[in-house]
Amino acid sequence: MQREIYDVTIIGGGPAGLFSAFYSGLRELKTKIIESEPRLGGKLNVYTEKMVWDIGALPPTPGGRVIDYLVEQAEVFNPTIVLSQKAIGIDKEEGVFVVTTETGAKHYSKTLIMASGWGVLLPNKITVEDSEKYEATNLHYLVKDPQALSGKRVLVSGGGNSAVDWVNILAPLTEEVTLVYRQAELKAHESQVSKLLAGQASYKGNHTITRFIADSTGERIAEVVLTDNLTGVETIIAVDEVVINHGYSEEGAIFDKNTVGLEKHDDFYVQTSFDNQSDVPGIFAAGDVVSHSGKLHLIAGAFHDAGNAVNQVKKYIEPEAHSHGRVSSHNHKFDEKNIPLKAQFFG
Ligand SMILES: Cc1cc2nc3c(=O)[nH]c(=O)nc-3n(C[C@H](O)[C@H](O)[C@H](O)COP(=O)(O)OP(=O)(O)OC[C@H]3O[C@@H](n4cnc5c(N)ncnc54)[C@H](O)[C@@H]3O)c2cc1C
Repeated sequence: MQREIYDVTIIGGGPAGLFSAFYSGLRELKTKIIESEPRLGGKLNVYTEKMVWDIGALPPTPGGRVIDYLVEQAEVFNPTIVLSQKAIGIDKEEGVFVVTTETGAKHYSKTLIMASGWGVLLPNKITVEDSEKYEATNLHYLVKDPQALSGKRVLVSGGGNSAVDWVNILAPLTEEVTLVYRQAELKAHESQVSKLLAGQASYKGNHTITRFIADSTGERIAEVVLTDNLTGVETIIAVDEVVINHGYSEEGAIFDKNTVGLEKHDDFYVQTSFDNQSDVPGIFAAGDVVSHSGKLHLIAGAFHDAGNAVNQVKKYIEPEAHSHGRVSSHNHKFDEKNIPLKAQFFG
């Protein structure tokens, strides 16, 4: 079968990967993104409802909207976007990198940009009987749209910032919301805990979910059995939706199965130079995966890395190319796209 070889393959579709894709297009590179999740956005998916204030020039914007903007920008030059494929191996055949994913698919590329953050973020799952089955209906590890829970009876399990924030967001929307945590004292920021305790939500500290009781279809959770960790006494709560927020674990498998010598530092990081080159010629890195003393672990830092990494890719493939892309304000690639935009702004 014919191998389709890309100029650059970006592993990870978070802020670093998405901006790398845009910038690769600007530099006229044939580009592919491989993302293990069924959705783009990376860690922003963990805080879609939070306001993000620290992206230069962008007014305070919910994380979910930041994802929309990033995806729209990434798609300007039509990169190939591959979702739901976790990269698990990197090899090199006849001078071309081969990225193998969990599905068995192989992706061929002259260069790679590692934009894999801290690896694949996996929610810590609850180990109560049948919990996996209920993931198809009313057991959630991620709340994408709080409005979907509006008017319902919701039980949230967890004691960290994320769980407490979700309860505070859901309290005014839902019919009732209960927070369950295995310890007495919540671990979240004091101000958020005070807000929760002063509001309409119920809090059951020192309790653990020990059983789910199904509805008549057997497909949905109708009631949750909580056990008091001190006394062993059980309480049953009727629910419409259950949200589990027990934190995340990261998995950096791709680094373990590579034959090209890409090394993992401190579990997830790629050691790079200041201009985002790894120790392996042809492999570059951007975003949270990057490790060097000047690295800024913010979305703004991911953008800076992405620009650098793409410029290095360009030079690697075409040594005579300019070391930087032309600024967008004076780049003729945008001339045609600018016509309707200018009409919108200047009439
Ligand atoms: C709760 C929280 C709040 C934050 N708030 C802010 C904020 O207000 N402002 C700010 O600037 N920053 C904030 N950050 C940090 C910011 O989210 C990160 O710096 C940013 O997401 C890094 O982008 P990235 O693309 O490098 O990594 P990520 O966002 O982690 O994206 C990496 C992507 O790579 C994918 N991936 C990983 N391994 C593989 C693989 N083997 N194969 C395929 N895909 C893979 C992952 O699924 C993920 O989609 C926050 C972080 C958290 C956790």
